[in-house]
Amino acid sequence: MSDAPLKPSTIAVHAGRPPHESDQPFNTPVTFASTYVAGGDVEYGRYGNPTWAAFEEALGALEGGRALSFASGLAAIATILDLVGQGQKVVASRHSYSGTVMQLADLEARGRLTCELVDVTDTDAVVSACDGASLVLLESPTNPALEVADIPTIRDAAHAAGAYLVVDNTFATPLLQRPLDLDADLVVHSATKFLAGHSDVLMGAIVTRDDELFGVLKNRRDLIGAVPGPMEAFLALRGLRTLHLRVERAQANAQELVRRLDGHPAVGEVRYPGMGAIISIELAQGAMAADLLCRKTKLWVHATSLGGVESTFERRRRWRSEAATIPEALVRMSVGIEDVDDLWADLETALDDLT
Ligand SMILES: *Cc1c(COP(=O)(O)O)cnc(C)c1O
Repeated sequence: MSDAPLKPSTIAVHAGRPPHESDQPFNTPVTFASTYVAGGDVEYGRYGNPTWAAFEEALGALEGGRALSFASGLAAIATILDLVGQGQKVVASRHSYSGTVMQLADLEARGRLTCELVDVTDTDAVVSACDGASLVLLESPTNPALEVADIPTIRDAAHAAGAYLVVDNTFATPLLQRPLDLDADLVVHSATKFLAGHSDVLMGAIVTRDDELFGVLKNRRDLIGAVPGPMEAFLALRGLRTLHLRVERAQANAQELVRRLDGHPAVGEVRYPGMGAIISIELAQGAMAADLLCRKTKLWVHATSLGGVESTFERRRRWRSEAATIPEALVRMSVGIEDVDDLWADLETALDDLT
């Protein structure tokens, strides 16, 4: 075999497996262990686990860095925000995941840090906000507004200010965007979403190419202890094995649904960043129509979260924590891997009922 780098779909299938030796299992076993016999590298269950390590190897290979597993996406983000010095400034997308914004607001209210929320599509405003910042946390596309940031320009401004650039890559996945290739310092994931992909596990991860940062974050994880269970890591890795197939199919479905949604009289605006499996639509007749739509379908499930094999949707402003700049009638749709004609028939029936 040549030394050409492996393609992402091959990495998704092969990375993080035991060696090809007689009687080795194909899959890394689930290791339930709170402690290990003394004298080795791991020692204790909060410091490491072979099942996390397998997941970390696979995700690290896909993102092009070294990965650390966490109990959830927000546990990973909390550990990253712990790097910010007392009273220092964080710049973040105003339309970040609402839990991220709530975490920042909570830290700001307690005087731990200051936070400037920016419109990531206004690159000049983001660049000026970077001045004096110690960390810039971007989502691109943003959740649920689906705005796209100019990552290279913002990276230059962040680095000029001496700030770390962190990209939440949950929506794009490493198959559609590799922020470390754009010189981001850290990538963070809610592995709960596309990486695990089956709506049955909560997990998070951080990936970096910077060995020093890796060491600091590993140390923070050891001390904070926001670690996943081994079963979660096993399920996330099992899900990751088909990431490329799921993303390819869900994205193709999303692109077709965008074409069909565009021009339906019940639908005002259709937002789609050109990639991925998330679509946000605004119902022409407002929030009540959006709530009705979410209750009228048979296949589409009214549920929060995203990135599973099943198509789900919800009106985001039903959450009081969602940003007030998100339209009341916006429905975020997470397109699954079902047959697109079935998905459309279900949606179209419900949409027709609204008109
Ligand atoms: C869901 C989500 C998170 C939080 O992840 P959890 O696993 O739910 O803690 C963070 N960022 C984005 C973009 C998300 O969609």
